[in-house]
Amino acid sequence: MANKVALVTGGGRGIGRAIVLRLAKDGFDMAINDRQEETGKAVAEEVKKIGQKAIAFPADVSRSTEVKAMFIKVLQEFGRLDVLVTNAGVSQLNTLEELNEEIWDRTLDVNAKGAYLCILEAMKPMMEQRWGRIITIGSVFAVEGAKDFVVYSASKFAVRGMTQAFAKELGPYQITVNCVLPGYIWTDMWCNEDAKFAKMYGSQPREAFDKITQNHVLVQKPGEPEDVAPAVSFLASEDSYYITAATIPVGGGTPLF
Ligand code: NDP
Repeated sequence: MANKVALVTGGGRGIGRAIVLRLAKDGFDMAINDRQEETGKAVAEEVKKIGQKAIAFPADVSRSTEVKAMFIKVLQEFGRLDVLVTNAGVSQLNTLEELNEEIWDRTLDVNAKGAYLCILEAMKPMMEQRWGRIITIGSVFAVEGAKDFVVYSASKFAVRGMTQAFAKELGPYQITVNCVLPGYIWTDMWCNEDAKFAKMYGSQPREAFDKITQNHVLVQKPGEPEDVAPAVSFLASEDSYYITAATIPVGGGTPLF
């Protein structure tokens, strides 16, 4: 029987890359989306070493024409699609003075519209085969909006809301839709924000990040991308068949309220 196929958006680095490698180890063939072809291709080479088929599909998830073309190519190359992980995202650490319409549009376009456009395409083959797993990557800021992250918080609430709504739409087709909420994970994204924190608050490198994570109830340190991947692995598996519309925080016990 052909291997199941998973597509991870923003799979070229950070949390997305860790998810790609974990799903490949679980036995999935991997479609790896990223804006830049080189990063996707580099991760595809890592997947091939694990022994699974992997192809990079460069596309900007916020552009419907690129998303549609990407899904056509994925189906041409693999002949099926079983799992979608909408991981591509951009962060926005801004003072209120910095906020503007352009920041709002770009953040919502990538984080919310990007996930929406990908789900619209992925659900078609999944509905036909009456099996699918859709996992959105939200954030703990999708439960509690954060200071300095007005627009990012709004975009992640949108992701969590559409996860629950799509779960209700797609449940009759045996497609589950769940949302993983990473806490503070040390990736390029947070490295950039850390530099901005340092500028805004005069902190030392990693100081703000380490300070925030000291109030975690479980593990008092930032997570690694590999800490997020197991939750996605479970939600992509057969074993999760009885779970949909769930939001699973993966943040070492980040207090949410
Ligand atoms: P990174 O910035 O390290 O990686 C993001 C990835 O998404 C990159 O590969 C990037 O590609 C890709 N990407 C960005 N915009 C687009 C786009 N328009 N189309 C396609 N790909 C795109 O971030 P993380 O790994 O930290 O974050 C991954 C997800 O996890 C995001 O949704 C983020 O919001 C979420 N998250 C992260 C947390 C953290 O602490 N790190 C906490 C909570 C949630 P490119 O190289 O082209 O920019």
